[in-house]
Order: sequence, then structure tokens, then C-alpha cells
Amino acid sequence: MHILRLAIASPLRSLFDYMPPEGLSEDQIAGLQPGIRVRIPFGRREVTGYLLAVCSHSHISPDKLKPAIEVLDQTPLINSAMLHLCQWAADYYIHPMGEVIAAAFPPKLRLGKPHQELGDPGWALSHRGMGLPEGALGRSPRQAQALALLQQAPAISSQSLAEQGISSAVMRSLLAKELVQHCLMKPAAKAPRSRPGLDLNEEQSRVVTSLYPALGSFSCHLLEGVTGSGKTEVYLQLIARCIEQNKQVLVLIPEIGLTPQTLSRFEQRFDTSIVTLHSGLTDTQRYLAWEAAREGSASIVIGTRSAIFAPLCRLGLIIVDEEHDASFKQQDGFRYAARDVAVKRGQLEGCPVLLGSATPSMESIYNATKTRYRHHQLQNRAGNARPPSIRMVDIRKQPLEAGLSTELMNAVEQTLQRNEQALLFLNRRGYAPTLQCHDCGWIAQCRHCDARLTVHRRQRKLRCHHCTASLRLPDSCPLCQGSAVTPAGLGTEQSEEALRARFGSWPIYRVDSDSMQGRNAMQTLVTQLNTGDPCIVLGTQMLTKGHHFPGISLVAVIDADAALFSSDFRGEERMVQLLTQVAGRAGRAAVVGEVIIQTHYPDHPILHSILSDSYATQAQTILGKRQAVGMPPVGFLAMFRTDAADAQMGERFLQQLRRRAEPKLPRETRLIGPLPSPMQRRAGKFRSQMMLTATSRKSAQIAARHLVGIAQTLPTPGGIKWTIDVDPQDVF
Ligand code: ADP
Ligand code: ZN
Ligand code: ZN
Repeated sequence: MHILRLAIASPLRSLFDYMPPEGLSEDQIAGLQPGIRVRIPFGRREVTGYLLAVCSHSHISPDKLKPAIEVLDQTPLINSAMLHLCQWAADYYIHPMGEVIAAAFPPKLRLGKPHQELGDPGWALSHRGMGLPEGALGRSPRQAQALALLQQAPAISSQSLAEQGISSAVMRSLLAKELVQHCLMKPAAKAPRSRPGLDLNEEQSRVVTSLYPALGSFSCHLLEGVTGSGKTEVYLQLIARCIEQNKQVLVLIPEIGLTPQTLSRFEQRFDTSIVTLHSGLTDTQRYLAWEAAREGSASIVIGTRSAIFAPLCRLGLIIVDEEHDASFKQQDGFRYAARDVAVKRGQLEGCPVLLGSATPSMESIYNATKTRYRHHQLQNRAGNARPPSIRMVDIRKQPLEAGLSTELMNAVEQTLQRNEQALLFLNRRGYAPTLQCHDCGWIAQCRHCDARLTVHRRQRKLRCHHCTASLRLPDSCPLCQGSAVTPAGLGTEQSEEALRARFGSWPIYRVDSDSMQGRNAMQTLVTQLNTGDPCIVLGTQMLTKGHHFPGISLVAVIDADAALFSSDFRGEERMVQLLTQVAGRAGRAAVVGEVIIQTHYPDHPILHSILSDSYATQAQTILGKRQAVGMPPVGFLAMFRTDAADAQMGERFLQQLRRRAEPKLPRETRLIGPLPSPMQRRAGKFRSQMMLTATSRKSAQIAARHLVGIAQTLPTPGGIKWTIDVDPQDVF
């Protein structure tokens, strides 16, 4: 007896057994390979299942097993390394295998659409057609002509046949006689070619030369290079070598905003097919890019985090650029860290993995010191660029105009007058984070979250940044009906207004998720900035991600204070990375850069070390603190969260989980909580959490699996939702 063991995208953490579809022979069934898609009945729907094994028995009695409807693939579309990767990720993140494996397929194939190879439709002779004697078909001259043409070429596209006067009806008659067959016209494979790269400086060549021999087998490398040190040039030269060897390269980048810029830099260098994979694509575009990666016609695949699950048939190198970036962690559903999956993938596929950043994550630095990763450094800026000079501006008692001190305003003015560009950083979008009544003290709160509503003056709206709530901006106080409602605090819209009032004759660009809505918004901005004309760019975190703006000579952090007092254990790491990255935008080409940091706390130790210490030194300090408290990367974490209709329900669930799990927890682990999450109410649900800490990855895994096993058996009254997050980014 044969039984199909399938993974199905569903919240259930189990596999599903089905009988094979009717009408398949024993041999056909025995030949079904893991990874193929199968259409099956599931509840009242028909869904796609992924075959993991053909088994000889099931713990469900055979007469209760339903037959599958149809086998969708003759051979698996993903190779066995990918299948192993999915299995590893499902185990490691304790997530249903069906949802993990679905991540390796584009939406169309997940929905069960047939797999189609790329290429234009065309025709070729069949075996029978090849054996046809000359002069046959004399009575149908069109058919004879078509055959004559096909005898001279291995295949001809339908379009070119039509252009030579041969209709599709003629071809169909030949098909009926089994003289011709359909085929796909593949574009002639051209050898990937690269244009010559820059002459590498000494540091760069040392890195590149030591990495060349790594191609061809697994090893993991951390490339730590200050902004502007020419990391990208190192990537490009490695990629060139890799595609010369007829291998493919997968490049992960943090944001879609970066794709046009990265893409154009790659296209200028390589004369080969490059595809991009990110959430801004239509389903069809995504399918085409995925298939080009899979079948190998694309030599270079550039994508955001989910691209780590794209199959590539000749993978030779994985690069994770800006590897410290938090966006590599998926924060809902299947919660994986693309950087960590990349390292595992390199191991399974036998190719090197290169993690690059000016400000590497504590995890990667730690792995490098433990010699799990090889550490390469670029300490100088490439070309002629000099490091920027950084200074603090103490804004205590200073007059501020929408957060901008006189000293900063003057610095902007001088920059513009020197025909240079200024970049101002403020990590809060909207006009103001709060709307308050000056008469009675009323504050605009979100009705669904423990959060204040943000004033968006341009849209005349109050909006919640944690749910979809959006209200008209009131003219009077809803509590006392007075007219003294005033925005409090600072957002990008407000600073933009103040800058326009003073520097109206220069172009001012605001860059945040409100202003960068359109698909081409970032590309347009980049083009503008690359003209080098003087202008002001004002924006949020969006600005700090690896963009290369050669004309910027002044960078200012409008408010460094907000980040200084974070309660999250990663707060200091993020702050140091952010400030280092922002500062790195200054003076990347010929002009010398200047960085101004505005603060009320000029004596704060973090700000001090930013002025005087290298990133590496600051990282060692942070790692020392993590060591002292057993936090990652020294210790290991998993977070259980519940979202429930009232505040107690979730905590009761977690308490029950804790009580049941505790007797069998490994000794090196500890549970903290349950506790209400610091922002407890989100979009109308109450969130509670319980944290698992461990001193080894192994015990963290054992304990987390034990807890998940129990959680699955607990009742979930009132539709409580629980989730587990292994290696969480945020714990508060
Ligand atoms: P990173 O990725 O480390 O921020 P990039 O690779 O973007 O740095 O390089 C920064 C700038 O330096 C770019 O303008 C790049 O063209 C230039 N550059 C990089 N390497 C060299 C080199 N070897 N010689 C001259 N210019 C270089
Ligand atoms: Zn009021
Ligand atoms: Zn809300």
C-alpha cells in the first residue's frame, strides 16, 4: 500500500496522509519524488499539498484516508537541498512545514497553477516528422512548406512561422498527424560577461583574494567595512568570478526601496540576466523572476528577505548586504531570520555566504570572534573620500524651530550656499506624535491600542501607527469643546514646514513611508540627488539604508534623545548602528562631510563613545553587557505571545503553559513571565508574553519544542491566539 505524506499550509503543526490519486500505476506512485505539488481536498476546499514521502503505512486507518485529486508536478520544482532547508527551518522556528515550504513557491504555484517553463511558444519536428521522406505531403503545399522550414532549423517560433505565411491551422493539422510537436523557444544562452571593475585598493584586494578560493564550498564570512569603504565593489568582483564559473548568485538586501539602485549598479557591471524578487511585484512578475532563478537563466537574483527561499539551480554564492538590518527578520506568520537561514542554506548547498555591513549585528560579530565566521575588514573609505567630522550640538535652553537649532539652520544654509546637499534625519513621520488640548489636557488616544494618535496635518488626519485607525483632525476639543487643540512633539512634516519657510528657494525632499508611496518614488529621489544639485533631504530611517548619495556633505540627527532611553536589550545596539549609518551618509565622494547630532544629553556615555570610539570598540562594550545578563548572542531566547479579547485570558493561558511545562524544562533554561506586553492593547486585542531564556541553543530548542507541544494541547477560550518567536528581534 502507498500513502502520500504531505505538508499543507495550515496552522496545524502536523503532516497529512492521503491516498494517491486514482488511476496512477504502482510504479508511477512509487516514483513520486519529495517536493512535488499535489492537489487535495482539505476540509471543504481544494488546496495544494507538498509531498514529503511515499509511505507504506499510516496511523490513520486507510478507509478514512481521502484520495488526492491530482499530481501537479512530474518532477519536483525545488531541489533536495531546498527541501532540507525548509525542513530545518520548520524544526528550528517550530513552524508548520506546509507554511515553510509554501515560502519556496511563488503565489501562482501555491495556488496550484500549472508550472510553465519560460520561453516563446514554437514548433519542432516530431520523431515521426523527422523520418518523413522528402516530397511527402505534396498535396498540401502549406504543410509541406512548414515541414521544409522545420527541417532546416531545430525549432521555429510560432510568430516567425506566422510571418512566413504559415497559419496556426496548418500547424494544428501537422500536429494531428503527429509530425510536429510544441516546444519552447529559449533565448540563446549567452555567456555571462562583466565589464572591468575598479582597481581595488589594498584592503579590498586582500579581501577579494582571500575570498576567491572560498568559492565552491561552504564557509561563512563577515565583511565589516565602514560606509563608503567599497564593500559593494568587493561583492561585484566576487560575483564576476562566480558567474564566470557559470554559477548563480543570490543577493539579499533589506528594503525594496534599495532595489532600483542596487539593480542599476549591477546592470552597469554585468551583461547577464539579473532578476529581482520583492513584495512590490505582481504575481506574474514574481513567477517569471522565480522561474528564471530556478531554471538558471538568471545569473544574479537580488531580493528582500523572502528571496532566501527562492530555488536556484546552480547557486554559487549568497550575499547578505546590511546584514544587521532588522528587516531580515520576519515579524509575523512564519517568523524567520533570513540572515540565519542564509547561513544554513550555504551549508546545505555547499556555497560560501558573505554577510556585509558597516555596523554588523552583535550576533555576527560574536560568531566571528568564535571563529565560526571569517572576519574581513575594510577600515578606510575607498577612493578619495575622507571620514566625516562629528560634533554634538547641546540644544538645552536653545531656541528651536520645529526641532532645529540656530546652529543647525546655519550649517544647512552654508551647505546649500556651497552648492552641496544636506541630509536631516528624524525618525518620526507625521506632523506631531500627539494632539493635546491646552485648556483641559485631553490627548488624542487610539480607541483600539495603548497608543496616541499621530497628527498628519497635510492629510488633515489623526492616524494610529499601530493599527489602521484614522480620524478627521478635530478643530475643537471633543472633551471641553475649546479651540486650544495643539500638536505636541515633532514629526517630519513639521520640520519640513520649518525648512520650507527658511529655505523655500531650494528643493526639499521628504523621505518617509507617507511620502514614498509610489513604486518609483525612491528611484526618482535617487536620480534627483545624483545630479548633485544643492538640496535638502529630510527623512526617517528609510534614508539610512545603504543608499549612496555622493553629493551630501552635511548630515544632521535632529533628535538623538528618543533612542537613548530604550527599554529593549537591543536598544543600544540599534542606536549605535543608526547613528553610525546616518553619519556614514556624509561626504562619500570628494567633499568632506560634517555630522551634527542634536541632543539634550551631550554627556550621555553612548553619545560620547560615538564621538571617540570605533564601531568595533562600541560593539565589544555592548557584547560585554549582553554577556553579563545572558542575552543574545551569548544567551538564547524564544518568546511566547498571546493575543486575546481581554487582558486576563492571555495571561491565564501562559500561566497554565508555564505550570505544565516547568517540571520537564532543561536545567539551563528559565521562563520569565507571563507579563502584559509593554504596549498591551493593539488593534483591539490584549497582548501578553512569556520569555524563555537559555544558555545554549540546544537547550533553548528542547525547551521551546516542549512548550509548543503543551501549548497545542491547551484550550484556547475566546479564540486566544498564541505564537512562538524563536530568536525574537524585540522583547518589549
Ligand atoms: P560601501 O558599499 O562599502 O558603502 P561602495 O562600494 O558603495 O561602498 O563604494 C563607495 C564609493 O567608493 C563608490 O562611489 C565607489 O564607486 C567608490 N569605490 C569603491 N571602491 C573603489 C576603488 N577601489 N577605487 C575607487 N573608488 C572606489
Ligand atoms: Zn479640552
Ligand atoms: Zn491603533
